[in-house]
Amino acid sequence: MAEYRAPLEDFRFLLSRVFQIEHFWQSLDKPGDVDMDMANAILGEAAKIAQEVLAPLNQSADAQGCRWDEGEVLVPDGFKEAYQTFCEGGWNGLAGSPEFGGMGLPKTLIAPVEEMVQGACMAFGLAPMLTAGAAFAINAHANDELKARYLPKMYSGEWSGAMDLTEPHAGTDLGLIRTKAEPQNDGSYLLSGTKIFITWGEHQCSDNIIHLVLAKLPDAPAGSRGISLFLVPKFLVDAEGRVGERNQVSCGSIEHKMGIHASPTCVMNFDAAKGWLVGEVNKGLAAMFTMMNYERLLVGIEGIGVAEASYQSALRYARERLQGRSASGAVAKDSAADPLIVHADIRRMLLSMKALNEAGRAFYLYVAQFLDIAKFSGDAKRREQAEALVALLTPIAKAFITDMSLDATIHGQQIFGGHGYISEWGQEQHVRDVRITQIYEGTNGVQALDLIGRKTVACEGKLFSVFYQEVQTWIEAQKGEQHDKYIKPLSEALQVLKSSTEKVVANAKENPHNAGAVAVDYLHLFGYVAYAFMWARMAVEAQSQEVKGEFSPAFVEGKQASADFYFGWLLPQVSCLQQRVETSAECMMNLSEAGF
Ligand SMILES: Cc1cc2nc3c(=O)[nH]c(=O)nc-3n(C[C@H](O)[C@H](O)[C@H](O)COP(=O)(O)OP(=O)(O)OC[C@H]3O[C@@H](n4cnc5c(N)ncnc54)[C@H](O)[C@@H]3O)c2cc1C
Repeated sequence: MAEYRAPLEDFRFLLSRVFQIEHFWQSLDKPGDVDMDMANAILGEAAKIAQEVLAPLNQSADAQGCRWDEGEVLVPDGFKEAYQTFCEGGWNGLAGSPEFGGMGLPKTLIAPVEEMVQGACMAFGLAPMLTAGAAFAINAHANDELKARYLPKMYSGEWSGAMDLTEPHAGTDLGLIRTKAEPQNDGSYLLSGTKIFITWGEHQCSDNIIHLVLAKLPDAPAGSRGISLFLVPKFLVDAEGRVGERNQVSCGSIEHKMGIHASPTCVMNFDAAKGWLVGEVNKGLAAMFTMMNYERLLVGIEGIGVAEASYQSALRYARERLQGRSASGAVAKDSAADPLIVHADIRRMLLSMKALNEAGRAFYLYVAQFLDIAKFSGDAKRREQAEALVALLTPIAKAFITDMSLDATIHGQQIFGGHGYISEWGQEQHVRDVRITQIYEGTNGVQALDLIGRKTVACEGKLFSVFYQEVQTWIEAQKGEQHDKYIKPLSEALQVLKSSTEKVVANAKENPHNAGAVAVDYLHLFGYVAYAFMWARMAVEAQSQEVKGEFSPAFVEGKQASADFYFGWLLPQVSCLQQRVETSAECMMNLSEAGF
């Protein structure tokens, strides 16, 4: 497996040039007083821990996996020490509220750190990801006493977090959950039930595990309106914050699964376990939704992390492996054959990976900007507009990025030929690991339904108009013929998306199945246009003299060639998707069940 190298030059290009991030941070209120020097220092340190501590564990941890032993979960060799190093570096508290010991940094800086951690070792990266998600929900909804008791230790990583939503019969449809919460006289609750698939639900790396659990009170209304959220620690905590006796929460087993072998996926049993309400009774699902946008964006970031690692190793292999001769005559004349990279088909796959990964990276930063505005801006109107864009773009950032990331890792595997199927080279692990990103945090099919249903049809395309205006404003601000080769196709693709959106809204009124039938294709159409917007912005920037002076010639050439490849090779998908999106569900729904 090739060594993982953090893509620091691309982060610098995107942050300092494409998104003019220092200026952006100055326009916000108190995002951790961050500037570009501080950002570069943080990214440099994160790169070290990713490259030197986490990446070396990725393959051995996958091979060893986790082990369940009488309720205890043993993680692979090296994980406990790596977790300790990670905590000592303060990496768990980047987003945390400064009031409780967090650093309060903007998502636009945290997101690249997250990509490096996930790209180096995704199975490990899930532990801090779940802790940050749980802490986020506690900070947003718990009372002051719970916040003061739990958040400082979660931000330091001494205690980790887990999200306990799924039950054997309730996955997408959480309204079906059966876990019960009985109120007690002292204000606490006793929780009973079984949760499955709980990531990092049990392990020995931290001193305590804080579970955020969805459950129903005895008199709760049926369905999703009767769900409440509870904090249930593995060990009970006294008023001084000391860890005491074991709570009645235990790990019944762990799953054997396709990828992320080093991340324990646990069955968690709650047997009258003591817990505390977070937020209001019966508003648990809404409380979970506040953190969903962050978590879903992070799943997209995971996709880019793994796809980048796959690209790096495929590129190295394509430069070293000698097979056949170039179609235009021998290139490595002193060797028996030319390296794979001379072949057009290998270049097609490498450029597809590069173009998709770099657009995905730009797109997650683009969405992260709106999360930052929604959190840190003092301007109510600006916040409202940012919230609209976060709502619209989050399902695309989760589902399109991860769908494209799987495609990228499959290209990476293909470049290795038969060796891509063999564990030793690490490419098959990238394919196995990234696959889950399409499934958890709401399947990609369900993300597409959210985009087309709640975010498009229900508001008659109003949210889409906010995005349309954003892109249109940028297009109108571009001057100079040298940009036309990017601006023109972007403009045309944007018009296709606009007319398809109008058609989707109209078709949904004719038949309730129409929207569901075309949802994934609509999300992909949207994704291709969003990536075209990112590539146009990167290409225009790469043409500037400042960038040519500041970045290496190879980097600038690679950016321009990838933009050309994206517009020439990948964006034409839009016409095929348009045809599918504007059709009806008849060909799927007319068939009887027996006919399948
Ligand atoms: C490795 C792993 C880690 C996980 N980690 C966690 C965790 O930490 N915490 C946690 O709570 N859960 C976790 N999960 C659970 C995960 O979030 C769920 O598996 C996922 O949300 C899908 O639920 P399900 O498996 O029950 O599938 P189902 O809900 O049964 O869905 C099956 C299929 O039907 C489709 N579908 C469902 N409803 C509809 C609909 N209304 N319309 C159209 N299509 C529909 C889905 O898209 C999917 O393709 C994890 C799962 C795995 C495998």
